[in-house]
Amino acid sequence: MTDMNQIVGSHDIVMITLDTLRYDVAKLEEENCPNLCGSGPWEKRHTPGSFTYAAHHAFFGGFLPTPANPDKASHIRLFHTKDTGLRTHPYTWLFDAPDIVSGLENEGYRTICIGGVIFFTKKNKLAKVLPGYFQESYWRMTFGVTNPRSTEHQVNHALKLLEKADPAQRLFLFLNVSAIHGPNHYFVEGSVKDSVESQRAALRYVDGQLGRLFDALRKRGKTFCMAFSDHGTAYGEDGYEGHRLAHEVVWNVPYREFVL
Ligand SMILES: [Zn+2]
Repeated sequence: MTDMNQIVGSHDIVMITLDTLRYDVAKLEEENCPNLCGSGPWEKRHTPGSFTYAAHHAFFGGFLPTPANPDKASHIRLFHTKDTGLRTHPYTWLFDAPDIVSGLENEGYRTICIGGVIFFTKKNKLAKVLPGYFQESYWRMTFGVTNPRSTEHQVNHALKLLEKADPAQRLFLFLNVSAIHGPNHYFVEGSVKDSVESQRAALRYVDGQLGRLFDALRKRGKTFCMAFSDHGTAYGEDGYEGHRLAHEVVWNVPYREFVL
């Protein structure tokens, strides 16, 4: 069990949202994801939101995906806002701010967002809201869902920032990975439609790229990493397509936390 009060202040903190990754897909690829699953398996959780915008507001508010079991007592939150009057676990880090990003900023963290899907593009006012939580935010066309090498470009950008970063200042790095979101059919040669198969291939691609990021973070010191999906997506189950709807393929998400 992670004691966040031992993490905050001493570790870099990385949050990676594997946008749209289904829980069943993540489980099927566990053995092929040495970077994400090298230290353990995915945990099944329920997301607080059925699409990117809703889910990320909850995450930044300290509400990460909830363990998918009915035993509430086992749900120990990493983050919780201060002064709610509710009893919290001693391992939970209490932030005195509207959200964890500015809460970490108050603790001296440099907060960085590397965007991926449409809600991080900063191209219109709505798409500036989520990046606006951070001191610095970056988005390029090459980070987006239409680029088959998006994760490579996102990681390259992160590496450039890490290279120049002050080794004495702790970082909160948020990365929204766009590659697993649709369209992902191009990860399977000859495929014209997104499917469980193409999402599996996209996840293998993403894991392969994350190794360079993890190596660079290890060089800086200790990093606490949270990797999870913001929601799944339907590929025709019960007639449903996509997300922003209530179906177990959307609500169930994979979750992992580990120290690099
Ligand atoms: Zn999303």
